[in-house]
Amino acid sequence: MTQEFKTVQREAITLDKHICDFCHKEIEQHGYEKDEGCIVFHTGGEYPEGNLIEEERVDMCHACYDSVVLPWLKSKGIEPQKIDDDTGILVLRV
Ligand SMILES: [Zn+2]
Repeated sequence: MTQEFKTVQREAITLDKHICDFCHKEIEQHGYEKDEGCIVFHTGGEYPEGNLIEEERVDMCHACYDSVVLPWLKSKGIEPQKIDDDTGILVLRV
């Protein structure tokens, strides 16, 4: 069996600036450091022939997480879990 390939051009959207949806300031990236967050809600379905999922997303900077989101969560009795990204292990607070 012989396979033939052709070159196709696709239009792609690249992220130029990452903006906080709360304060509308740019979320700056510093090398390998991460200091950002988001709230994501998925609707739709995952099917064997493909996924039909829509995502609603709100991006936030660390300052807005600390001053807006975290106080609101705590006011609802919700305590975010801290998870080690490498191990997936819950980091306990003491
Ligand atoms: Zn912000």
